[in-house]
Formats: sequence, C-alpha cells, structure tokens
Amino acid sequence: MLDPEHVVTNGPEPAYCPRCGLKHMRRPDWLCPRCGMPVETDVPQGTTRVAAAPERFPIGPRVAGGLMVAAGLALAWGFGENPTAEHRWALLAGAAALVVLGTAALVALPAARWAAGVAGAIAAVVVSEDLVRARLPDLFRDLLPAVLRAPLRDLLGDLGLLASTSLVAFAAGAVLLVVARPGRVRIAVGVALSLPAIAVAVLRVLAG
Ligand SMILES: [Zn+2]
Repeated sequence: MLDPEHVVTNGPEPAYCPRCGLKHMRRPDWLCPRCGMPVETDVPQGTTRVAAAPERFPIGPRVAGGLMVAAGLALAWGFGENPTAEHRWALLAGAAALVVLGTAALVALPAARWAAGVAGAIAAVVVSEDLVRARLPDLFRDLLPAVLRAPLRDLLGDLGLLASTSLVAFAAGAVLLVVARPGRVRIAVGVALSLPAIAVAVLRVLAG
C-alpha cells in the first residue's frame, strides 16, 4: 500500500521558498536553490485574481415592477369601467406612473429601483397619515408640502378604509422589494403585502 507521505512524484514540480520567495522547480533535496531553506510545493497564486462578476440586477425590484404594472393596469381598467369625473386626472396619472415605473423596474433600470422605493415610501406616509388623521385629527402635522399632498389626496381621498389599508401594504411591499438586495423571505413578504391592493382594485371593478 502506498504511504502518501512517501509517494515519489516524477517530473518537475513547482516549488516556493517561504523564506526568500523564490519560485522554482523543486530539487530532489527540497531545498531552495537560492537560500538553501526547505521549500514548499504550495505555490502562492500571486496577484492574478478572477475578476469579480458584474453586479446583477436583483430580482426584488423586478418583482416589484411586475406588481406595479399589474396595479397600474388594474387602476386604469377600473377607470375605464367606471370613469369618475372628480379624480379622473389624478387616477390616470397614478395608473400611468405605476405602469411606467413598474416597466422601468422590470427592464432593470437601476434608477427605477430608487424611484419606486421613494414613490412607495411617500405613498405609504401619505396614506397611513390619512388613516390616522381621520381618527386623531390633531395629532399630525403635515409631513409633506401641500404641492405633493393635494394630488395624492385627490388620488387616495375616497378610496375607503380597505383600499387605503391595502395601498399602505402595497407601498410597504414595494419598498421591501426595492431597497437593497432582498432575499427569498423578503420577496415573499413584499409580494404578500402588495397583492391585496391589486385584488381590491380588481374587486372594485367587478363589484361595479
Ligand atoms: Zn529561498
């Protein structure tokens, strides 16, 4: 049986001297030809390293993009079925923004990640603020300037508690999906949070 310690290797074998750093072909006596110290056959790989793979666009924002497109289309569909004179332009603008942002996220434009994250955060603040304000009118000061708030209010104003709550969840889900690099759990939670808003939008159309 072969003892691995004493297997004789024939032919040249790369060697490295840990003392003087000389790379050479190992001599039979295992000594460095320059400084005479024992050498090793584990030659360090030097400075050539495999270049890091380019960062891939994470999957979370793509999922968020798909959900946003679905929500935008549901909004637009609802508008087509039941055009309300009051909030026509705000609704259409919201639907268009969702579809555009969602498409950008889907085709992996990095800027869309941040735009979607910021839009989701703002929407979450506005809607949740409205939910609380309706019950505790004196507690809140306005977080957003009126220029931003008025059109958002128009968009969200008469949606009702269920729709508003699901919109908060949708916005929170979008933020979860877009920020940083979500793993499987965060993607699952983000999708679960986002789906009720789409379902509500569709149900409102079906309910007429
Ligand atoms: Zn040496």
